[in-house]
Amino acid sequence: MKNLSRRNFNTLMAKGMGTAAIMAATPLACAMGSGQDKKKLGVALVGLGSYSTYQLAPALQDTQHCYLSGVVTGTPEKEQIWADKYNIPKKNIYNYQNFDDIAKNDDIDVVYVVLPNSMHAEFCIRAAKAGKHVICEKPMAVSVEECDAIIEACKNAGVELGIGYRLQSEPYTNEVKRFVREKTFGDVRYVSADAGYYSGSNPDQWRLNKELSGGGALLNMGVYAIQSAIYGSGQNPVSVTAQEYSTRPEYFKDTDETITAQFTFPNGAVGNIMTSHNINANSMYVSAERGWFQLQPANSYGPLSGRTSTGDVIEFPHESQQKLQMDDFAKHILFDAPNVAPGEMGKRDMIICEAIYESIAKGGQKVTLDLEPDYGFGGLPTP
Ligand code: NAD
Repeated sequence: MKNLSRRNFNTLMAKGMGTAAIMAATPLACAMGSGQDKKKLGVALVGLGSYSTYQLAPALQDTQHCYLSGVVTGTPEKEQIWADKYNIPKKNIYNYQNFDDIAKNDDIDVVYVVLPNSMHAEFCIRAAKAGKHVICEKPMAVSVEECDAIIEACKNAGVELGIGYRLQSEPYTNEVKRFVREKTFGDVRYVSADAGYYSGSNPDQWRLNKELSGGGALLNMGVYAIQSAIYGSGQNPVSVTAQEYSTRPEYFKDTDETITAQFTFPNGAVGNIMTSHNINANSMYVSAERGWFQLQPANSYGPLSGRTSTGDVIEFPHESQQKLQMDDFAKHILFDAPNVAPGEMGKRDMIICEAIYESIAKGGQKVTLDLEPDYGFGGLPTP
């Protein structure tokens, strides 16, 4: 059985479905042939911009369970450069038009979509239809509707879906999750998180163009603050109020500059987040019954840094977060390890982003949220 995750396979078997039913349920998956029988999964990066160039491709040189086997680019000049630099055969290099032919390429097991946000849905869905497992960069898409379409396409094709939430694979973040889960400092009462940067003076960048970005600071950086608030509290929020601030309207014509939002959580805890394309910010702080813990920086590529109210410094040896993230996804496919950043998590965060925009549109009114509990602990059901 190839390219059909063990979980899907077991589910179908448990339901008493035989091979014929499985073939019918996941025709592409069975036909394509790649994945579990391999030692290392081949990954194709779609979109060779700065994140692929400076983070993902270098990290894929160090990954244990996957490697860079192909690329998809809309810029013909990049083809030879990447072929030479990473020894990628010509047959594994695609453009946006012939991308669907990737279905016939057994060297490629995973397609990693690293394009502007509004292009994520199209390319994730095309990748799933080609029978490839999918990693989709954050933010997952530009609407909840698009998140649903991606999840549905992956389900229909019997392929796995992960979001590029590198911090979910990262030791400092996981230490914070452990404090919350084990109640090291008691129940959490308050969490604050911020994520932002000064976006300079280039009004032509796609992140400031709503058609390509889907939104401004909130979709780009706010998802980090939302994630911190959720793993810092160990819960999904049940309500949100939000405000938007604009100090450079001539520069941020089309997209949000700075947003603050306040959450309430089921156990009575409260949270505050701030995200901005005009303010440098990169931290999270949690106050619990018997103490506090914090990460600062909390969102950058590392090494992160943390400390607690007991005077302890949180410290881990530095490893590439992208390497850890892509290996975690490969282990999910190869060994049925947990998917630490599933599509449902990306969708949850987009539901929260839409609620924040709704609250702002209603002048800061409270918007209630009714989220699935399963991903409340930053990706995994609470052990
Ligand atoms: P970038 O601008 O450096 O690269 C974008 C790529 O998309 C380029 O190769 C460009 O040629 C291509 N592209 C195709 N059509 C385009 C169009 N119409 N307009 C602009 N570019 C077009 O961006 P990036 O920083 O590499 O970001 C890509 C994605 O990765 C985004 O979704 C971003 O949120 C995400 N990202 C995630 C992290 C992370 O830490 N997880 C970090 C950076 C970026």
